[in-house]
Amino acid sequence: MFKNIIAPVQAWLLSQERCVGCGTPLEKAKRTKRKDKTEKVTCQCGRIFIYDPKTKNYRRALFKEV
Ligand SMILES: [Zn+2]
Repeated sequence: MFKNIIAPVQAWLLSQERCVGCGTPLEKAKRTKRKDKTEKVTCQCGRIFIYDPKTKNYRRALFKEV
């Protein structure tokens, strides 16, 4: 049951451009440009996200992208 609650909360946090782990606004996170024009965003808590400037969306980084 707990798992079913976590996913929507994480999706909501990401839609608010906040880290799903600590809630820190991702605009404050460290960014590095990637070859495919997206940005790798590393939160202070160590979680890594990918920002796509085209869609203006954040998502969790895949394991191979870290
Ligand atoms: Zn964080």
